[in-house]
Amino acid sequence: MRARIAAAARAAGRAPDTVTLVAVSKTQPAEAVLAALAAGQTVFGENRVQEATQKFPALRPAHPALRLHLIGGLQTNKAREAVRIADVIESLDRPRLADAIADAAAREGRMPRLFIEVNTGAEPQKSGIPREAADAFIDACQTRFGAALTGLMCVPPAGEDPAPHFAWLAARAARHGLPDLSMGMSADFETAIAHGATFVRVGTAIFGHRPV
Ligand SMILES: *Cc1c(COP(=O)(O)O)cnc(C)c1O
Repeated sequence: MRARIAAAARAAGRAPDTVTLVAVSKTQPAEAVLAALAAGQTVFGENRVQEATQKFPALRPAHPALRLHLIGGLQTNKAREAVRIADVIESLDRPRLADAIADAAAREGRMPRLFIEVNTGAEPQKSGIPREAADAFIDACQTRFGAALTGLMCVPPAGEDPAPHFAWLAARAARHGLPDLSMGMSADFETAIAHGATFVRVGTAIFGHRPV
């Protein structure tokens, strides 16, 4: 996986270390995370707060380099727990969640890095701010969160060419001066890297198919 990421970065004229692999360990047992840690992987992604809480805090003392990204749609009533356990919340997508995260950060005395998720395909079942509302929301979050807001994230519609979605997201991040782009999964991370991804979220291509 690391070799494929490095090759895709070089093909795009980028240094391999400009792309961080987020190993998506959702539904995988803690043993799978431990095996990946032993192999040198330090950055992990989970989409449910409760599952992340069950797996990750216990691993931190022995693995100080571990970084946890929350990548799934986030309910406001889970914001406090998310702020407590995450290094990066990738799914900030609405004003009420921004309120909840700001409040939780004040109470916890800790602010994770934040990415704004955009629903680039306008899919009703997906989280993410709509494209047409993105500029105003990004502006508001930059004012509110300052340097904690560092990037944008998207999950393009399945079965559609992801490239236009990645290109749109990259242009939007550039317009707002945001350095991070979380885009690309097992099936399309090389395309995402060609379009400037700085984080790729890869699950099945690392861990195999998820247990059901
Ligand atoms: C599950 C998930 C991934 C990883 O998907 P794979 O196809 O298994 O690589 C990436 N991003 C999000 C938001 C996910 O929920």
